[in-house]
Amino acid sequence: MSVVSEGSSKRRALRGIAASAALVIGVFLLLLPFKEDLNTTEVALTLLLVVLLASTFFGSRAGLAASVAGILGFNFFFLPPFHTFTITGTENWTAFAAFVVTALVAGQLSGYAKRRAAESERQKREIEGLYDELRQAFDKASEAEALKRSEMLKTALLDAVTHDLRTPLTSIKASVTTLLDVPSKSEMDQAGQRELLEVIDEETDRLNEFVEGIVGIAKVESGALDLLRTPSSIQEIIEIAASRASRILRNRLVETDIPADLPQVFVDPVSIAEVFFTLLDNAAKYSKEGSLIRVRARQMADGIAVSVEDQGVGIPRPQRERVFDKFYRIKESEIHTTGSGLGLGLAIAKGIVESHGGGISVDDGDDGFRTKFTVTLPTEAV
Ligand code: ADP
Repeated sequence: MSVVSEGSSKRRALRGIAASAALVIGVFLLLLPFKEDLNTTEVALTLLLVVLLASTFFGSRAGLAASVAGILGFNFFFLPPFHTFTITGTENWTAFAAFVVTALVAGQLSGYAKRRAAESERQKREIEGLYDELRQAFDKASEAEALKRSEMLKTALLDAVTHDLRTPLTSIKASVTTLLDVPSKSEMDQAGQRELLEVIDEETDRLNEFVEGIVGIAKVESGALDLLRTPSSIQEIIEIAASRASRILRNRLVETDIPADLPQVFVDPVSIAEVFFTLLDNAAKYSKEGSLIRVRARQMADGIAVSVEDQGVGIPRPQRERVFDKFYRIKESEIHTTGSGLGLGLAIAKGIVESHGGGISVDDGDDGFRTKFTVTLPTEAV
């Protein structure tokens, strides 16, 4: 490969030299008939032009060939005594010397410029090649990553459907069948029937939760959240969320610290109450009975930051970003708690907060609290 390109570049150089020599000869043939009318400066300048053209188009070696041919011809035809390679007179010597120096320097300079241009063109092509290679590698990597993610999502969705759709349906079906199969009410005592009805009640709630979760995430993802943003009190939003979660919060102590003089947040209060419901629900779900949950609000430079902290099982650092992915659940937290869920709550919460121009993050809690979720909300239209 390199032998071939070396051979072809030599041939190209030889062709350049031949073309330059032909150019110089051509110019001499053109000038000679007008020898009487031309002075040495005019001839020297014309020859210089040829040297420049030769080195620009064919490279510095061709430029050198044109210079040498030009120098010889200039001396032979145009500097007295004519048709000899000798020169007489200071004036002619000066003209000759000036021509020699200018031709050589100009020829080499423009040849050098041509080489530099070729070099930078080659570097540009190399960089473009590298960039293409990198982009292809990057595309491939992100394709693989996207594929992996979509596979994980499919598995998670399948798990969720099996667990959250089929399990409640199976329980409901079994309870209803048992109730229907009882020939007369007397054969099953009231307490037994009530138990089965409670199973149906709980399991339909779970189904409802599942449908709500799926609809919620679909709304977030399709950008179909109907946000009615108004200046709202963060205190009232937290109260609404806490009262919705009152059943699960029954055995937890909730401490709130919301300064009365906080400015209002510019949000859709219903959606944001939903976000805090999810956070309070999780804080209770993943902590022990009797533990403390703390809600604090503070004014920041870019809005109001509200944190929800719990003393529960905590979230290992490596999983902290992923808990906001849809259908993502940490298996170990189930071992320590009875928390059941779809793994959609935080994904929906993130979608809602971000469509308000806010943010949500998770960290270690302060003062010995294990987990702290912080939501930042704008105080004016953004
Ligand atoms: P769900 O609670 O329905 O599983 P979420 O999206 O609300 O779904 O939460 C995703 C996962 O993040 C949970 O399954 C749980 O493992 C973890 N998680 C969320 N909040 C907490 C918390 N306060 N403490 C510990 N783990 C949590």
